[in-house]
Amino acid sequence: MDFDLTDEQRMLKESARKLMEREVVPYLNGFPTGRPMALDDIKGLLKKLIPLGYLGNVIPEEYGGAGLDYMTYGCLMEELDPSIYGLVMLAGSTPRSIYILGDEEQKRKYIPPMLSAEKVGCSCITEPNVGSYTAGIQTRAIPDGDDYVINGAKMWITNGSFADMAFVLASSDPEKGAKGLSRFIVDKDVSPWEARPIPTMGDDGRIPAVGELVFEDCRVPKRNMLGDSGGGLKATLIGFQAARCLVGMGSLIFATRAIEAAVQYAKERTQFGRPIGQFQLIQDKIADMAALTDAARLLIYRGLSLVDKGGRCARETSMAKFFATEAAVKVTSMAIQIHGAYGLSTEYPVERLFRGARMMTIPDGTTEIQKLIVAREILGMQAFV
Ligand SMILES: Cc1cc2nc3c(=O)[nH]c(=O)nc-3n(C[C@H](O)[C@H](O)[C@H](O)COP(=O)(O)OP(=O)(O)OC[C@H]3O[C@@H](n4cnc5c(N)ncnc54)[C@H](O)[C@@H]3O)c2cc1C
Repeated sequence: MDFDLTDEQRMLKESARKLMEREVVPYLNGFPTGRPMALDDIKGLLKKLIPLGYLGNVIPEEYGGAGLDYMTYGCLMEELDPSIYGLVMLAGSTPRSIYILGDEEQKRKYIPPMLSAEKVGCSCITEPNVGSYTAGIQTRAIPDGDDYVINGAKMWITNGSFADMAFVLASSDPEKGAKGLSRFIVDKDVSPWEARPIPTMGDDGRIPAVGELVFEDCRVPKRNMLGDSGGGLKATLIGFQAARCLVGMGSLIFATRAIEAAVQYAKERTQFGRPIGQFQLIQDKIADMAALTDAARLLIYRGLSLVDKGGRCARETSMAKFFATEAAVKVTSMAIQIHGAYGLSTEYPVERLFRGARMMTIPDGTTEIQKLIVAREILGMQAFV
């Protein structure tokens, strides 16, 4: 077993770190918190990330992608500024879904505008009444002439309030239940929808994390239905497994930043005439924080390298997702404790890191759902259908 990254992965991480420091963070800091950025400014931010492969990720070069493997893409994502993690993850995963499920014409038409950040994508599955139980989707897609007419609402959609391209799951044959669900590419310029941001605890007001979309008699050309002919099902499974690791990776960034802040604070803050870092109960927390974060990183790296091998790895990727996201909540909370009252202040970074980490135990399958998957893989018994 080799725990070392390759030279290419190390170099890519170094370039990503420099890009964040020199371009991305200064650009973001040019926008005041509390005021939503214009869509063109969000696209301007995404454009800075194109050269390193953030948007092209694992999509092959022949479609304009970066042709990375998942492990290398994960290494790249690990260097992102955490405030834009969801934005970038979904900006990259929506074209990836089209690459996985689309036909040749759909790939040639819809992937390039998203890879060049002319369009920003979102992926719409969850609804006001449908969360973990995706088979119960209520959004309807009714055939009518050359179109499908979509009616329904989608909630908690990352990038949802400003995206102009959507991957939408809707029921085109309600009697068939889960088997009657279909996926559509919906281009807002052609098939408009209404959207609004949903304020959440992780927001800093510049880029709303999630939004609600309402499709009212939204006409989508029939050729925009995504099939899954060929290797579609297998590729979809690989996509889900990868997404769990990538959400875990987002959490890892919050945890890593929290440890850095806590270590620095523990060295600088003095009480009882000594740096608090000399107290054993503070050292206990630092050791726990480091062990939780390292364990999360190893589980995520293992998950991503198994995804690259192409096999089924539901047990390992669900374990990585729930462990990493729950670990980040604990680590960021301990960082607040080490900071005392200062940890609760918005003038210090750790309360923001905690709020960000707290968001991550829910998307792409909650902790409970991931645990049910892990236990199902071990026991061979299904707790839900
Ligand atoms: C930051 C963020 C980003 C998101 N981005 C997207 C996105 O881009 N696209 C999208 O489609 N959705 C997105 N979501 C929605 C997310 O996928 C759902 O919130 C998630 O699937 C859970 O659904 P729910 O919130 O409706 O909770 P519910 O499914 O109603 O669950 C409520 C509680 O019950 C538990 N529960 C449910 N079923 C079971 C069971 N069988 N056994 C035990 N416990 C159970 C859950 O774990 C949870 O604790 C996002 C959510 C967040 C927070």
